Amino acid sequence: MELSKKQFKYFIDNEPNFVCTLEKQRCSCMKPDGNRCRRKVVIGLEFCFQHLALKRHLKIKKSTIPNSGMGVFAIDSRLPSDDTKTILFHGERNKKRGTGDFITNYNGETISNTEMEDRYHDFTAPYACRINPRESVDAACSRGLGSMINSTTSYSAANCEFVQKWHISPSVCTSEPRRIFEMEKNSKYGMERTISFMKMAFGSLPDKIIKLLSVYLDF
Ligand SMILES: [Zn+2]
Repeated sequence: MELSKKQFKYFIDNEPNFVCTLEKQRCSCMKPDGNRCRRKVVIGLEFCFQHLALKRHLKIKKSTIPNSGMGVFAIDSRLPSDDTKTILFHGERNKKRGTGDFITNYNGETISNTEMEDRYHDFTAPYACRINPRESVDAACSRGLGSMINSTTSYSAANCEFVQKWHISPSVCTSEPRRIFEMEKNSKYGMERTISFMKMAFGSLPDKIIKLLSVYLDF
């Protein structure tokens, strides 16, 4: 793992209680010539800005939500910037499965409740998401794209759902949790992806589902 120069610091009583250096990764996109992209990414792992736009139709830029820093937006560079009609993400494209379009994984560091308490005490962890009664995923040091999706207090304005899926790998018979965001509503060019922490959903995959756990968003 490579480290960047950026640090995350969490202060309690004006003292840095938890400090880490942000992880840096090489963009995971394979180019048409078969070579892997050489750009390095710190915020929004795992794609560089160019491949995030090309492959995922997403862009990180200043949020429309006050005091929220950066946010995640829908983008398609082939469309004119004033396009307000083209739908880039569909909320109910696959009606059979009852799911919307995949947005991104919620990547980060899986940590125990004890570690969470050491880092943040009883305060709200800015980049963490509880995945079961014992563990959370903290993206403070490994800043995945999912952690950049801002929450909104407006129930009706949220357009993403946080979905936890479990599926079994047939070859090794082990369970692998996938924590992802899916579209809830159709989303057009330029729209920011937002989630309401009041909205928590559980999805299903065609794979065998072994367990669904409560998901508590803790942005
Ligand atoms: Zn790239």
